[in-house]
Amino acid sequence: MRERLTRGEVAVIGLARSGLAAATLAAREGAKVYASDAAPRPAQETASLPGGPDPLAAMGVEVQYDGHDLDRIAHASLAIVSPGVPPSAPAVVTARDAGVPVISEVELALWFLRATRIIAITGTNGKTTVTALITHLLQGLGADAIAAGNIGMALSDVALMHTPPTWVALEISSFQLHDTLSLKPVVGVLTNLAPDHLDRYESLEDYYCDKDRLFANADPTSLWVTNADDVEVLRRTSRVKGVHNRFSVNGLQVAAMFDRDRDRDHEHVRVFDDPLMSRLEIPLIGDHNVANVLAATLAVASADEAFRSEGAREQIRMAVRSFQALPNRLEVVADNGGVLWINDSKATNVASTRVAIEGMTRPAIILLGGKHKGESYAGLAAAIAKHAKHVIAYGEAAKRIEADLAVLGSTVPFERLESSFSEVVGRARALAASGDAVLLSPACSSFDMFNNYEERGASFRRMAQGRE
Ligand code: ADP
Repeated sequence: MRERLTRGEVAVIGLARSGLAAATLAAREGAKVYASDAAPRPAQETASLPGGPDPLAAMGVEVQYDGHDLDRIAHASLAIVSPGVPPSAPAVVTARDAGVPVISEVELALWFLRATRIIAITGTNGKTTVTALITHLLQGLGADAIAAGNIGMALSDVALMHTPPTWVALEISSFQLHDTLSLKPVVGVLTNLAPDHLDRYESLEDYYCDKDRLFANADPTSLWVTNADDVEVLRRTSRVKGVHNRFSVNGLQVAAMFDRDRDRDHEHVRVFDDPLMSRLEIPLIGDHNVANVLAATLAVASADEAFRSEGAREQIRMAVRSFQALPNRLEVVADNGGVLWINDSKATNVASTRVAIEGMTRPAIILLGGKHKGESYAGLAAAIAKHAKHVIAYGEAAKRIEADLAVLGSTVPFERLESSFSEVVGRARALAASGDAVLLSPACSSFDMFNNYEERGASFRRMAQGRE
C-alpha cells in the first residue's frame, strides 16, 4: 500500500489540522498531493499550521477549499481521510466506489513511526481521559511521551517531528479505526462499549465492529487492557489473541481492581495484586474515573517491566494524585455560595451522562439537552431518581427527554425549557441552594445551539463564574 504514495496522485480529504499534517507528511515522502475540504478556507488558516499554508504550496501540494473535485479523487492512487470527515461524506464515498484504497490519517502516520512505542486507546467513553492519564503517568515515570490522535496533536504531526518521542498515547475513534489497517500497539486499551453515534452508523453492531479493529493485528504476544465490568467488551474480546489484563470497579478479581461497594477509605485500588492507593487520593469525580485510572495504570504497567518496580509504583501514585480533571469532563468550574458548578459538556451520550450523575455526592440540578443522537434517555432514570434534586431539559431534544423520563413520575421535579442556554443556566442558579451541585451533563451533542461541546462548556463556565 505504501508504494501508492509515489504512484499517481494522493488525495487528502479534509483540511483541518490532521489533514494538513497528513498532506505535509505525504508530500515529504515524495507524493504528489491534492488536498481538499468541503468547507471554505478558514480565516485563520495560518494559525493551523506553523508557517501557514504556503509550505504546502512550496511542497507542490495543491489545496482546494469550498468543495472537492470528485473526479480527481476517483482517479487518485490513494485517499487519506482526516478524522473529522464522516465515512458518509461524498468525497469518501466517491473514493471507495471508485476502488481507491482509503486510509486514515493515523494509518499514514503509522507507516513512518515504526520505532515509536504506541499505546492505543479506544472505547465509547473515557478515551481522552485515559489517554491524558497514560501520558501523565509515563511522563511522571520520566519517559519521553506525548498524547496524540483525537486528543490534540495529529499522529502525522508526530511523524513529522525531527525526533519522534519514544512513547505515544494514541486516542483513536471508531471512525479512524475503520481505515487504520496496520495498527499494532504495544498495548491496546478498550475502555468500554455503549450505544453512541447512532446518527452516523447504520447499526450499533457496525459501530462496535469498527472498535474491534483495535484488535485486527492481534497475536499471542499482544497486550490488551480491557474492562471486566462491561459485558459487551468481554464478549467481543474473549477470543482475541494475546494477554488480556482487565480492570474492574465492581470488585472482580482481575489485574486491576477496586470494589466500589466496600470501604472507600483504605488502600482498595489494586494493580497487579498490590495496593496502589486509596480511592480518596484520586482527585477526580465519579467511580468511572477510578476505572479510567485503573485502565491507565494497567496500560503503563503492562507496557514495560520497568514500570512495575516499587519505585515506579510510587511515581505512578504521585502522578495520579496530581492529575487534574480535563476541561468539559466533570470539571468543577465554580464554587459559589456553597453551590458547586460542574461542567461535563463532553458527555454527549447517555452512558457518559449516567456515570456523571452517579458520581454526584450532593443533590444535583441536572441540565440535559442539545441535539438528539438517537438513543433513549430512559437509561438515566434510575441515576436521576437517586441523585437529582431537579432536572431541566432544554434544546432540540427536550421533548424526547421529557417523554423518555416520564417514568420518573413526580419523584423528581422536572421541567422543560424552550429558552436560550443562558436562561436555562439562570433557572438552575435560581433553583440551587447551598450544598447543591449544578451539573451540565447533556447526553446530547451541542450542535443545536453551539458549534461544538467546547463552546457549550465555555459558555457554562463563564456563566457559572458570573462572567456572563
Ligand atoms: P471520550 O474521549 O471517549 O469522549 P472523555 O474522557 O472525553 O471520553 O470523557 C467524556 C465524558 O464521558 C465525560 O464527560 C464523562 O462524563 C464520561 N466518561 C469519562 N470516562 C468514562 C468511563 N470510563 N465510562 C463512562 N463514561 C465516562
